[in-house]
Amino acid sequence: MAKHRFFGIDPARSSPETVAVIGLGRFGQSLALELMNDGAEVLGIDAREDVVQSLNGQLTHVVTADATSEQVLRQLSVPELDRVVIAIGSDIQASILVTSLLLRFRIPQIWAKAVSEPHGLILEQLGIHHVVYPEKDMGRRVAHMVLGSMQDFIEIDTDFAMVKTEVNPAYAGVRLGDSGIRRKHEVTVSAVKHRSGSWQAATEDTVLQAGDTILVTGPTRQAERFARSTS
Ligand code: ATP
Repeated sequence: MAKHRFFGIDPARSSPETVAVIGLGRFGQSLALELMNDGAEVLGIDAREDVVQSLNGQLTHVVTADATSEQVLRQLSVPELDRVVIAIGSDIQASILVTSLLLRFRIPQIWAKAVSEPHGLILEQLGIHHVVYPEKDMGRRVAHMVLGSMQDFIEIDTDFAMVKTEVNPAYAGVRLGDSGIRRKHEVTVSAVKHRSGSWQAATEDTVLQAGDTILVTGPTRQAERFARSTS
C-alpha cells in the first residue's frame, strides 16, 4: 500500500515508495538525500525556513512546518504514508510528540533517531518499530577502525555484525571448507576480495590468499574476536 496524494505527486503514476523525513538536521538531510538517490520520493519537513530553503529542489517536496501539530501532518497527508522517519534528536519533547502522533496514525513503519539511551527507551516503550542511535553506532564503528583490527564494522542487529578485515596469513592457501573458521570462531566468511580482484561470494572451495580482504558475519563478540585474531 503506497499512496502518494500530497502536493504535486501524481497518484496515477506508478511511483516508488514515498518516505517522510521529519527533521532535516545533519542526520535527516543525509538520510533524505540518500533516499532520493535510491529512487524514493521524499517529503521533508522541518520547522526552520533556512533549512528547508537549502534543500529546495533536492527532495520531492520539502516543507516548513511544525511537525508536532496534528493538523499540519494531516494537511501533508502524512497519515497515508507507509514509512516515516523522525529525525529530530535534541528536542526530545518534539521527538516524543511527533512519535505519539505517528503512532496514533498507525503508520506501519516508523524509524526514530534517539540521542541517548533514555530517549531510545522511551521511543521503544511508546512502540516505535525501529530506533536508531546514529552517534553511538558511528562511534562504535569508528572505534573498531581506529584500533586497526577492522577495516569496517556494521552491527546488523544488537547481537549480529558484519566485519571487513584482512585475511590472517595463517589461512593463506587454505580452502575455506577446510579452514575450520566457522567451527573454531563461530563466524562465516561471506565474501572475499583478492588483492587485484573484485568482491566475490565465498564458497567452501574459495582458497584464501595473503592480502585478501574478507567480509565476515556472525555474533558481534565472535566477529570482533575473529577480526582481532587476524591483526
Ligand atoms: P542532527 O544531529 O541530525 O543535526 P540534532 O539532533 O542536532 O540533529 P535537532 O535539534 O534534533 O538536531 O533537530 C534536527 C532538525 O529537526 C532541525 O533542523 C530542527 O529544525 C528540526 N525540528 C526540531 N523540532 C521540529 C519540529 N517540531 N517540527 C519540525 N522540525 C523540527
